[in-house]
Amino acid sequence: MNNNRVYNFSSGPAMLPESVLQQAQAELMNWQGTGISMLELHHRSKEFIELSEKITEDFRELLAIPKNYKILFVPGGGRGQFAMVPLNLLGNKNKADYVITGLWSRIAEAEAERYAKINIVEDAKASNYTSIREASEWLIDPEAAFLHYADNETVDGLEFDYIPDTKGVPLVSDMSSNILTRRFDVSRFAVFYACAQKNMGPAGITVAVVHEDFLDRALAITPSIFNYKKHAESGSMQNTPPCFVWYMLGLVLDWVKEQGGVPEMEKRTARRSQQVYQCIDQSQLYVNPVNPRFRSRNNIVFDLRDTNLNERFINEAAARGLVSIKGHPQRGGMRVGIYNAMPDAGVNALVEFMKDFEKTA
Ligand code: PMP
Repeated sequence: MNNNRVYNFSSGPAMLPESVLQQAQAELMNWQGTGISMLELHHRSKEFIELSEKITEDFRELLAIPKNYKILFVPGGGRGQFAMVPLNLLGNKNKADYVITGLWSRIAEAEAERYAKINIVEDAKASNYTSIREASEWLIDPEAAFLHYADNETVDGLEFDYIPDTKGVPLVSDMSSNILTRRFDVSRFAVFYACAQKNMGPAGITVAVVHEDFLDRALAITPSIFNYKKHAESGSMQNTPPCFVWYMLGLVLDWVKEQGGVPEMEKRTARRSQQVYQCIDQSQLYVNPVNPRFRSRNNIVFDLRDTNLNERFINEAAARGLVSIKGHPQRGGMRVGIYNAMPDAGVNALVEFMKDFEKTA
């Protein structure tokens, strides 16, 4: 790794592969012989349209997305989807089911209340965000327009290890913080989405994958720029897309493919998260309260039993080039984001630091 860089454990925007940054730097002045920078290229140029189509097909290939799903690159971030999902999926129904497993799914639920009557079928607050009940125990409303859940909760460090069976209710998932870290059966979903800035690129673009059957249900009040169908019909170019961010996302997808695709990312994610959880579990100082089954592989939260040591821990970590490890203010404690682009050496350095710190604590 470049000597000037640190291991950045931010929950997002997060580290990008160094080779991607280098390629973007090398191509900045003149993208592929056009004499134009990607920061300047017209979005309706033949070159950009071809690039956007290539990126779409790469994403389809990486996650084995069937042809009857549209892959949309949309504005508004993850939060934009909190509104777009109800606006586009309620159709002639006025109720939806929500699963709450942490801060983000709670915010999603609050947004949906603007448009529909919401039935909370599971709230992990009951376990202080340490566990998730089986979907078979949830009181799913068979008449709900959809059921929404967050596959991985970035703040609370809670991740599903199964795809809920909703008995026919269309399933929607926020995969913002674990997309491209494991394979899954796409055909189980009506919609899944993820903002880019954790595992796919810089902030500024969000991928929404929508089954074709769900393109005709938008409420009349849906702003055009929030309408899935209009994005599908325009090749995600209703408005001027963030071309540079989209291009960066494409470079990250190329990198994932070169590394061995999603199966390889899945192996790395499992191995590295196990390494950190093992360090936590073997220590007298660190503690992670989450039921091991639902421990996030991407956002590892932990507390120091002696919270007086928090500040020293953060400062000493930073002195070793391990930054952005402070927990979200809503949760406190520590949190490390270990996304695809984090080098193994960063995880090794983190674990070594944690062990060394404990010895001096
Ligand atoms: N969902 C999850 C799971 C997230 O972690 C985040 C952001 N951290 C969001 C949604 C919101 O994304 P954005 O900031 O792009 O709106």
